[in-house]
Amino acid sequence: METENSRRDFIKKSATLVLGTITASSILNSAFASGNFADSIFIDPDGGKFSLPALPYAYDALEPHIDKMTMEIHHGKHHKTYVDNLNKALDALGKNALEDQSFEHIFDKIEKLPDAVRNNAGGHYNHSLFWTLMTPKGNTEPKGKLAEDIKAGFGSFEEFKKQFSDAAMKRFGSGWAWLVKTKKGKLVITSTANQDNPLMNSDSVEIKGTPILALDVWEHAYYLKNQNRRADYIASWWNVVNWETAEGLYEGKK
Ligand code: MN
Repeated sequence: METENSRRDFIKKSATLVLGTITASSILNSAFASGNFADSIFIDPDGGKFSLPALPYAYDALEPHIDKMTMEIHHGKHHKTYVDNLNKALDALGKNALEDQSFEHIFDKIEKLPDAVRNNAGGHYNHSLFWTLMTPKGNTEPKGKLAEDIKAGFGSFEEFKKQFSDAAMKRFGSGWAWLVKTKKGKLVITSTANQDNPLMNSDSVEIKGTPILALDVWEHAYYLKNQNRRADYIASWWNVVNWETAEGLYEGKK
């Protein structure tokens, strides 16, 4: 059973390691390549800038399921814009406006921060996680405790996929579908609007907890290849899910 402390430790570990300066980019890249999200993100304790992490694979590596041009624009333009605008939004707040720039702190105080911080911090965190939850070596199923608990919670892996896909389909407009581990240790499927996520301390985030699986259902994630057919994109995405990353997040190792 997960405790509040272990959840906080996990978030803190993720958050204190979040995204920083160019000097750390090689650490970042090798950590991303190993699929270890918590170790791959870090924050510069001296108030350094957030930066765009490298993808842990080539832009065309997820073909034919997710196309190269979508990945280039999604990572190189959309994600980069969130990073740039997060830095601008934090600059605009001023040096002493936040106790620290960790995601843990930002997401905890999210209701007190400007929309520009909410949208861009969420955008940066969500995408950084999303890239590590995909792999060219996909088309597999979860193993170990995550597999067991998905089966126990949803009846079967197929039923879980159906319910997760439904949540992704039903998210109106732009947002994300999530598999979350709540602080009581329960696996729950949910979705959030815009760039919100289950770590945000906000009434508009219905289910809070540790993200285990994340699916971007903004049209920018699929429009070039699938146009308006979100269901086709979701079906394709199952082929590239990185269950090793998800298992690590679930077991608190990553
Ligand atoms: Mn996106």
